[in-house]
Amino acid sequence: MRILVVEDEEAIADALVHILNKNKYIANACYDGEDGLDNALTGIYDLIILDIMLPKMNGLDVLNNLRKQNISCPVILLTAKDEISDKVKGLDYGADDYVTKPFAIDELLARIRSLQRRNGIVSNDNTLSFGDITLNLQTYELSCNSNALRLGLKEFSIMEVFMSNPNNVISKEKLIEKIWGYESDAEYNNVEVYISFLRKKIGHIGSSAAIKTIRGVGYRLEEPK
Ligand code: CA
Repeated sequence: MRILVVEDEEAIADALVHILNKNKYIANACYDGEDGLDNALTGIYDLIILDIMLPKMNGLDVLNNLRKQNISCPVILLTAKDEISDKVKGLDYGADDYVTKPFAIDELLARIRSLQRRNGIVSNDNTLSFGDITLNLQTYELSCNSNALRLGLKEFSIMEVFMSNPNNVISKEKLIEKIWGYESDAEYNNVEVYISFLRKKIGHIGSSAAIKTIRGVGYRLEEPK
């Protein structure tokens, strides 16, 4: 899952990105509202953590612009302690949740998990399931029956894309944008390498699910016939 952090206090933004990475979220930071809006409009993010007091464009205007342009990805606002009017306005503009500064990182992580569950694909025990395989979003384990393997960040994130879009074909371009970022130098070859790692691991845990190559289009996670 890819998260955008928009926060002008760079130390806080960078620390958040670091913590999110450690928790197996792919994250990157923007330090002002305009840059945040530009990045958010790429549509590659699954969640945005948005500060309200930002240079160039405030967080509420960023949010309002996003919703007007039909970007519906969940947004968690970072609000100052007593700004109740900001919270109300934020929720009215289409924010999904807010966290009051200074916040405990565990609370923010719990709210992220809660929003993941709310979209209906992630179950109450924070897992994604497809066929005979389960992906645990808290332990990063891919399991089948009693066999489990822990995945690295990129493997985990790719598997999460497949399991969140069951039976859909996912293009290599989409995987590069989501996993490596739209400005990265990653090539199809990078994707192919990780797909081959994942195929081995899916075989290793004894699952009969398979990542099928759809020639010229991309990949699809399929259940056994
Ligand atoms: Ca700020």
